[in-house]
Amino acid sequence: MKIRKNDNVIVIVGKDKGKTGTVRYAYPHKKRLVVEGINMMKRHTKPRTATDPGGVIHREASIEISNVRLVCSKCNKPTSVGYRPLKKGGKVRFCKHCDEVVD
Ligand SMILES: [Zn+2]
Repeated sequence: MKIRKNDNVIVIVGKDKGKTGTVRYAYPHKKRLVVEGINMMKRHTKPRTATDPGGVIHREASIEISNVRLVCSKCNKPTSVGYRPLKKGGKVRFCKHCDEVVD
C-alpha cells in the first residue's frame, strides 16, 4: 500500500474534498484508511456502566484509499508515489512530483 500511518493526505472526492489530515490507521487488506478529522461520523451510544453515560460521540470512519492522495512532505503538493529500489536491497517511496524520496 502506497499510503501508510502518519502520512499526510488530501481528500480528492466526497464531502471532505480538499481537506487534509494525518493517517491514523491503515488497513492494507481492505485498502481503507482512517484519517484524522476526515469522514466524521456521529455514533449514538447507550449507557452501559455507571462511568459510561452514553451519548453522541464523534469519530472518524474509514475511507477508501483511492479517495485520497498523499501530500508530499518535501514539495507539499498532492502527489502519487512510486517505488525506487535501493542498491542495498528493499525499496523506498518517492514523490512523482518533485522526485524526492518520501520515506
Ligand atoms: Zn514532492
